Amino acid sequence: MAKINILKPELFNKIAAGEVVEKPASIVKELVENSIDAGATKVSIQIYEGGIKKIVVSDNGSGILPDDLEPAFMPHATSKIAHEDDLYNIATLGFRGEALASIASVSEVEVISKTATHNGHSIKLSGGKVIAKGEKGSPLGTYFSVENLFFNTPARQKFLKKPKKEESECTSLISKLILANPNVAIKYSADDKIVYSSSGQGLQDAIFAIYGAQIIDSLIPVNVENEKYSLKGYIGKTSYFKSNRTYQTIMINGRWVSESIVNVAVSQCYESYMMKHCFPFCVLCLNLPNDEVDVNVHPNKLEVRFQDSRAIFGFVYNAITEAIFNDLTQKTTQEIEQTQQEFNLTRAPESVEDAKLPEKQELNLNFILDNQPKNDEVMHSSAECPILNELVINKLIDSVKPAKYEVKEEKPVFIPQPTQQQLIKEEIVDKNAFLSSRVIGKAFNTFVIMELDDELCFIDQHAAHERLLFDRFVSQIKDKEVSSQPLLLPYNIDVNSQEEQFVLDNLEMLRSLGFDIEPFGNLSFKISAIPSILPDLNVEKFFENFLSNLNNFKQMKSLDLIRDNLSETACKHSVKGGDDLDKDELVKLVRGVGDGNVTLQCPHGRPFVVKFKRRDIDKWFRRIV
Ligand code: ADP
Ligand code: MG
Repeated sequence: MAKINILKPELFNKIAAGEVVEKPASIVKELVENSIDAGATKVSIQIYEGGIKKIVVSDNGSGILPDDLEPAFMPHATSKIAHEDDLYNIATLGFRGEALASIASVSEVEVISKTATHNGHSIKLSGGKVIAKGEKGSPLGTYFSVENLFFNTPARQKFLKKPKKEESECTSLISKLILANPNVAIKYSADDKIVYSSSGQGLQDAIFAIYGAQIIDSLIPVNVENEKYSLKGYIGKTSYFKSNRTYQTIMINGRWVSESIVNVAVSQCYESYMMKHCFPFCVLCLNLPNDEVDVNVHPNKLEVRFQDSRAIFGFVYNAITEAIFNDLTQKTTQEIEQTQQEFNLTRAPESVEDAKLPEKQELNLNFILDNQPKNDEVMHSSAECPILNELVINKLIDSVKPAKYEVKEEKPVFIPQPTQQQLIKEEIVDKNAFLSSRVIGKAFNTFVIMELDDELCFIDQHAAHERLLFDRFVSQIKDKEVSSQPLLLPYNIDVNSQEEQFVLDNLEMLRSLGFDIEPFGNLSFKISAIPSILPDLNVEKFFENFLSNLNNFKQMKSLDLIRDNLSETACKHSVKGGDDLDKDELVKLVRGVGDGNVTLQCPHGRPFVVKFKRRDIDKWFRRIV
């Protein structure tokens, strides 16, 4: 073992910087959190070249005293905690006192700050060393600029992503900071273009600043508290879902937390309403006593640990279930009222009493609870018991669920399966046989009958044609021969910053498939042409599906992306079982299979050729034994 060295502060800070300062977004997070800890009500963030060239965060907070300017950059320098006890009751966003030291050690920093009691002062550091300081005129608050990130650590510089990608990470982080601090007006620009500007007038305004005001129709407010916990914010209606998790924001004691038991509870509440690969929207703030949550789990403070996570889970689960329940019953009541009204219109009331609409509450309960006891007390306690709640909710879903949820019960049918020998396997078929075979007829307008040397083949005309088209499409894609078909009206998709980056990353691939797609202003793309091999493509659904891959880390492959659409199109455009094909058409189909590079299964995996050997047929008739 080598001798133990005590590391010099410069080196130690550079190591620590690896934990806190990973990328521009993490610097933005530390600086904005410092501003908020300083009581700022206005914060402005500017980044240039994704924050790699420059990040400026200025605030109207309490400022830093001139004498504290230099010590603030020392490791473990913090004004927020003094004793160990403080660690277990943290009310500020920062407390570790390592951010400024870490940031300054790997960049060039300038701070200008003024408190209420002192004149403004500035300090400049390069690679953690003070290079200038002195008095400087400034408004109340702090101006913080970070330039040339990792200029003195080239190895770390290499790990930075392209500016656009770093910018998108900053943007998505800032959207969370805006939602987490709805009472602070936050303005954010990238390369001098304004991206977000929040008013500081509460959570609803903050949500509008990020998602646009039209989202209001899709939200359910949540506002529940007991003696210990409170949960406030908004969740999406069950009909409003997103294709990835980037629309879920959870704050715990004012701190945005990327993953916690709260996310799990929310997801579980929506489980029965959402189809696979759909995710609910939420912006929720959970508040609990500071000493019941440990935020000192990770240096970037994006994770927390609860003293009693079961209690938290139960509280959140019940609160969300109840909010969804109330929203659904309200809707149902409205629907019932509407039908009732229509009914009343067609049937003239016999008396004034008769014309009155039924009591809202009464209808509501009858409709939902059906055979269950119908009194308020039961309703109330059900909302507090997850299991009973689930029962009630399921009952409700049963009564309101749209047709798409219906699963037809299929009676088991006995299907005699052809034997392995009868199924033509890819490896044993000589495709040339299809070229030389004799089409001798058809059965039930569904199966082509073909004689092949000493074999009789039945070909499913639909499955064969479907395969033929599918393989033709695939080879067009492989040979990059896909042509585009312009859309009558260009289609716009709106995205958030993470989705934007994901589309940008895959732009070339989408174009190679025949999509004419281009960025269209901020957070939007215009699609003016689609692959001509997919004339019936549902563009909206396709992109929803495409964006759902954002949560996967695997590389997107163009063929995988459209395989389902291709087989759907092939299926739609191929001849069907029952289509009355004439002899020429039958021959064309069979020759097509022989000509092409065709796999002898339909794209859904069903075989399409079944053959019988002459010998077997002879055996059926006991011509041979
Ligand atoms: P921490 O936030 O964990 O205390 P930092 O390294 O982020 O540690 O900051 C060190 C100290 O510098 C803070 O405790 C605070 O006193 C001061 N400081 C940093 N930024 C600001 C700001 N924008 N306004 C006022 N004080 C600030
Ligand atoms: Mg800090």
